[in-house]
Amino acid sequence: MNKWTTKILNLFIIFSLICILASCSNTSKKPKYIFMFIGDGMGLHQTHLTERFLAEKANKPGVKILNFNKFPSYGHITTFPTDQFITGSAAAGTALACGEKTSMKSIGMASDKKRKLESVAEFAKKQNMKVGIISSASIDHATPACFYAHQPHRKNYYEISLELADSNFDYFAGGGFLYPDGNPKKSSELDNYGKSESRDTNKEKINSYTNAKNKSYTIIRSKEEFQKLKKGANKIIAINPNLADGESLPYDIDSKKDDIKLSEFTTKGIELLDNPNGFFMMIESGKIDWACHSNDAVTTIHEVLELEKSVEKALEFYKKHKDETLIIVTADHETGGLGLGFTLKGYKSNYDLFKYQNISSEEFAILFDKKMNEKDFNFEQALKMSEQYFGLNKEENKTTLTEYEISVLQKAFADSYKKNKTAENKIKYSGNHPYATANLRILSNKAGVAWTSFYHSASPVPIRAIGNSSDKFAGYYHNNEVALKIKELLRN
Ligand SMILES: [Zn+2]
Repeated sequence: MNKWTTKILNLFIIFSLICILASCSNTSKKPKYIFMFIGDGMGLHQTHLTERFLAEKANKPGVKILNFNKFPSYGHITTFPTDQFITGSAAAGTALACGEKTSMKSIGMASDKKRKLESVAEFAKKQNMKVGIISSASIDHATPACFYAHQPHRKNYYEISLELADSNFDYFAGGGFLYPDGNPKKSSELDNYGKSESRDTNKEKINSYTNAKNKSYTIIRSKEEFQKLKKGANKIIAINPNLADGESLPYDIDSKKDDIKLSEFTTKGIELLDNPNGFFMMIESGKIDWACHSNDAVTTIHEVLELEKSVEKALEFYKKHKDETLIIVTADHETGGLGLGFTLKGYKSNYDLFKYQNISSEEFAILFDKKMNEKDFNFEQALKMSEQYFGLNKEENKTTLTEYEISVLQKAFADSYKKNKTAENKIKYSGNHPYATANLRILSNKAGVAWTSFYHSASPVPIRAIGNSSDKFAGYYHNNEVALKIKELLRN
């Protein structure tokens, strides 16, 4: 080899080394901050309904696309569990959280309900990242539970709350514990599974909140205390001072000044969790699902919009840490079989009508039941409530009721006195309030929206991502692969 050949060879070797080093540093650059947003029950139609509603409200054609639907990476994931086709939140949550499809009702456990699965949150914690779990449902509800608990049945709420206190995660926020003094004995389904079956019912149980305090968690229950929380505060359980049914946050449409909203819990999470080792935060909008179980389109829209606001908080953070942040927005399944069309409307729709509903059907039902206890409450007064809360039967709203619709409301009025005790009511309203449900159904249909179920549907759900490694989340694949992809990123 002459002098020149050696020189060129040396240069080539140095150049190759630089290239290898450069590529190594590229692949090892994993996301430092991960946001995983889950809209429970939020299928494609739930977001498109909201997008069309926003456009119509602003008197614009087409749709106003939600910010998270503009993310550069877009895909769909299947939702089915291992033992049937239509999933539930526990099986879907486990797949999303742990990376393995499982059987119905399982929380962080394999199909056999024996083998525990490790969640991405636990995995992140092992890597010294801080972890936050936020939900607008109770904090021991199926979706959040899949990130820190391992139970054969989702109804083991008390056991789930004990696991929460053992998780060592840094920030829990949203709703409270459903059964802090032990699961009720009434659920026969509950007793078929796991720990509850063998639990010593005579032994006095430690209260879930006391237990969490004993494990050095600070419980925050007022907005003032919540606002005072500063960076460095550790092991926090922050609960909205005012809780609705099922220890959940009130629906956004019903929320009051004192309430802490999902977006505020998200902002605080960012403030508390930001640290040199990074964080993993799961934020669940749990009540999109509940609103859809009631077939309540307007409440759904408001829940989706509050989720959008929460994602915006993450986006503000992302803009400051673009290369290090990954934001994922997905769902566990679709709820309600929501269809953006209704046969009697043909090709017409009028989502503008949705602006007249000013209360969730759940809150309406509470008001209505109070009225029913009054002696002289009659159908005429019920109709007045339809006008006041749903904008129905008002000429200027273009919601004048047809004879048929009046007869539907009349029947529902009578059914409301039977509550859900009759088999007929169970089939017709599936445990929902008869009169509220009839109003929702009429409003939806007049707007050109239809529901096929009071339960979940098997539809695949969208997944969007922005930021570090977001391209990995495009495509059509199974829900469990989401967690596998996140774990893979964190392993690098
Ligand atoms: Zn769900």
